[in-house]
Amino acid sequence: MATTRAEFVHDNLRLIGSSLAGEETFIVAPELNLAFDVGRCPGDVLNVDHVFLTHGHMDHAAGVAYYFSQRMFLDNAPGHLYAPRPLIEPLRRLLRIWADIDGHEPPANLHAAEPGVDIELRRDLIVRPFTVNHPCRRHDRSVVPALGFTAIEVRQKLLAEYQDLTGPQLVALKQQGVAITRRVERPLVTYCGDTAVGDFFQLDFVRTSRVLLLECTFVEPDHIDRARAGYHMHVSDLARVIPALACERIVLVHLSRRTPHAVAKATVRRELGEHAARVVFLMDYRRRRRGPDAPPAATISAP
Ligand SMILES: [Zn+2]
Ligand SMILES: [Zn+2]
Repeated sequence: MATTRAEFVHDNLRLIGSSLAGEETFIVAPELNLAFDVGRCPGDVLNVDHVFLTHGHMDHAAGVAYYFSQRMFLDNAPGHLYAPRPLIEPLRRLLRIWADIDGHEPPANLHAAEPGVDIELRRDLIVRPFTVNHPCRRHDRSVVPALGFTAIEVRQKLLAEYQDLTGPQLVALKQQGVAITRRVERPLVTYCGDTAVGDFFQLDFVRTSRVLLLECTFVEPDHIDRARAGYHMHVSDLARVIPALACERIVLVHLSRRTPHAVAKATVRRELGEHAARVVFLMDYRRRRRGPDAPPAATISAP
């Protein structure tokens, strides 16, 4: 079976990924040098220095040890992984167990991500974690809340009252300690991981994110119970939350294998009505590794 991954582009944001519920989900933004979830850790994930793990389910997290191991063998810097705090210690243990099996314990930078605590990747780029609605119950019965992440561009914008001044005048003001700029945040892309409907949809940086990667695991009417039981989105949930979202593009991920893709598309188009115009499926942008690239599919609202 040929390996496929999708490549979705919106303006200068490029997202490479693959996502199917229960099988594998990873999303890479190469220009931002980050990945959301690692899936089974394909080469696209290995190439970025920052990995944001939403939760510990195998389809999102299987490749964590491979990520650090391969980066070591490729002589890359160890890389940084950010995950919900309760997962950090088990992940360290996992890497140690792999050392017993494999003979090498790769260097790894593991960081606890906390909701609302920004992670600065560059002066002009931060990642803000937030809590989603996908509690993961561990075998000891403890519950780990899952996280979503928003990558936010940060700019310093000149205040309106100083706009007509010359360069030297601005420099002089700065030297006097006058604040001539204000900080402006522009949410570029939000990834919600696995989640049911939750309060996070009201967060401004989520609502106004230019691109929103959102799961829609179930679409068939008799799958609503499955969606509730697994804390996933059903297309009827999507129809309720979408009108309040100001995102330019909503990219659906994590569809169930139970429903043929064509059926899922037709159902989403029917359920979302006018809002379907800004909704696309990540896996419609699939490209084969070998052979000619398939043309990207149209948005689901196209005739
Ligand atoms: Zn999943
Ligand atoms: Zn999950």
